[in-house]
Amino acid sequence: MTRKILVLGGAGYIGAHVAKAIALRGDVPIVMDNLSSGRSDFVKWGPLVKADIRETAALDAVFRTFRPDAVMHFAASIEVGLGETDPIGFWNNNVAGALNVLEAMQLHSCRSFVFSSTCAVYGNPERLPLFETHSRRPINTYGRTKLAIEQALEDAARADHIDYAVLRYFNASGASPDGEIGEEHDPETHLIPLALFAAHGTGAPLKVFGSDYETADGSCIRDYIHVSDLARGHLRALDRLFARQESFTCNLGTGQGVSVFEVLQAVERVTGRKVPFSIAPRRDGDPAALYANIEYAKHVLGFVTHRSTINQIVQDAWNYHRHQPGADHLPGTMCSQGG
Ligand code: UDP
Repeated sequence: MTRKILVLGGAGYIGAHVAKAIALRGDVPIVMDNLSSGRSDFVKWGPLVKADIRETAALDAVFRTFRPDAVMHFAASIEVGLGETDPIGFWNNNVAGALNVLEAMQLHSCRSFVFSSTCAVYGNPERLPLFETHSRRPINTYGRTKLAIEQALEDAARADHIDYAVLRYFNASGASPDGEIGEEHDPETHLIPLALFAAHGTGAPLKVFGSDYETADGSCIRDYIHVSDLARGHLRALDRLFARQESFTCNLGTGQGVSVFEVLQAVERVTGRKVPFSIAPRRDGDPAALYANIEYAKHVLGFVTHRSTINQIVQDAWNYHRHQPGADHLPGTMCSQGG
């Protein structure tokens, strides 16, 4: 049976990967995106409705036209620093937007909701690895808006209005193996793209935010999960919701911590270039280490990662970036495009 899945924010990095995975298995992704940061050329696998999730009439029209079987919600402000300078805008987009979606779902009797949450809901880890039962004390606006939506979902499920899958991502990274979709933010703040740009000289030397953490090499440790693994995790979550109508929350990560210096080494192996870098002060709000316990995702979803080694992540990200328009001057690009 073919299902129609409304993918909110499906023109963005993660949403587009999920929309593609939905289509490849024979279901229909209907993307709704305001294109504020998403790209219309990332929407190739189903219709695109250009609208904001806070526009009630637009949401209503989408539900009436397409009658989706489920909603997957990626449309949100994600830039942590912006949350601190524009908290009201952040709460409006993330929380008011999500509530508008939940109201539309209720009105149109659509019950299944997959939500992009984040390990930022945990705040500073009291213990590692992070289990789903870890206390939720986010330390920034971004994490607090995601937590607010988690709590709204818990209340709505208790009242039997909705079935949710809350997926708490660790560091989404990499690009689609065929080079079709990749990570782009404006401004770019993420480690892997910045390190790649530094290595091939199109970006500034990388600033390593802190080398005096209590970790083996002094730099911060994160859990990098390949975006195509993340997309598979979403489909499994959706299938579980359809099969059991039972809400759940789980981490999506690898369970392995990788340090900033280990990422830089991977970039050097993949590109064959040195990454120029300097040591900069610690970034506000960065815990020394964050990595997931992934047993619950294995248990509820049968989910394990396939492509999430740091080498593979960096290789796929590099493959994507060097084939972008304007990248033909990058070292190594000519021979790989010709080959
Ligand atoms: N990082 C860094 N320099 C940069 C960007 C990031 O040293 O220019 C570090 C950051 O402190 C963190 C890790 O790289 O420990 C991953 O940061 P990113 O912003 O990619 O993701 P986050 O973990 O903040 O979601």
